[in-house]
Amino acid sequence: MEKIQSSGELEKHLNQFTETQKNQIYHDLVAIQMTEGCSTACPDCGFGALPGVRDYIRPKTLIDIFKSIPEKRAPNTLYFASEPFDYNFEGENYESIHAQFRKITKNSPAVITSIPKGQEERIFYLLVEEVEDVTFATKYLPFVSAEPLVTKLIDAISITPYNSPRLEKKFNSLDYIKNYKRGLFFNALELPGRKPLKTLDNIDFWQFLKMLENRHPTIVRNFVTDIPRYKIGQKNIDNLENKRIGDYQGTLITPKGAFNIRPTNVTKDNPIGQVKTPIRKECFFTLPYGRVKLI
Ligand code: SF4
Repeated sequence: MEKIQSSGELEKHLNQFTETQKNQIYHDLVAIQMTEGCSTACPDCGFGALPGVRDYIRPKTLIDIFKSIPEKRAPNTLYFASEPFDYNFEGENYESIHAQFRKITKNSPAVITSIPKGQEERIFYLLVEEVEDVTFATKYLPFVSAEPLVTKLIDAISITPYNSPRLEKKFNSLDYIKNYKRGLFFNALELPGRKPLKTLDNIDFWQFLKMLENRHPTIVRNFVTDIPRYKIGQKNIDNLENKRIGDYQGTLITPKGAFNIRPTNVTKDNPIGQVKTPIRKECFFTLPYGRVKLI
């Protein structure tokens, strides 16, 4: 990732606007997409993400934007047609940017990951840490359960026909999986520094997912056997389903610039169910007292 250079297109795009116009873009933000393209490259991507990461927003630009977002207007995600954990540039990774976003805006963005290639071991570990914190809070400290839930990072992982063979192979090759503790009554999977995950069954990748789910029922989105994937996006253009992924309405910032985004019906012209148009100077109209509005 480090070899990719930021194109600087976002900065150039933002520079054409006045401070008041930029503030209106930040006021209406529904998402910041920190990278362009996605390393997981699902062939049925409903967001139309380009395969492979090819651009990113520089950390300094991100922090400047975070600081400009008005109070209580912070977006709920730091990715859109992209994978959050693909961010690893100029000494910052997804976790460090997420932490700075939380500190500056006081908002905790949602995170669903496909676990990008090369990051499997790190994210498996993070997942165990996450479910431990949630379990401890909900089971033993119900009266203070909000705090660990607020600080947790990963809300869910997407397991699809495209990433599951890779994840399964990687998981089953890890030393602590191969050497999990087999006991008389239960088997225990112990990741370094974490409390053991226990089960009566043999431990493999799918059992690992079950153990995570037992502790945190919404953490696994199983698109292999449980949940059908919506047929939307460029790749399904001849056979689209009449469903949308989201209802984003506002502005979106990506490495390529700032966009207006609106939900619409899924059609061949709008196969992701969103209309995404670049913001131009003409998109603003002036209100009394110098205020501006985006159209
Ligand atoms: S569905 Fe998600 S993980 Fe898959 S290519 Fe699209 S953005 Fe990436």
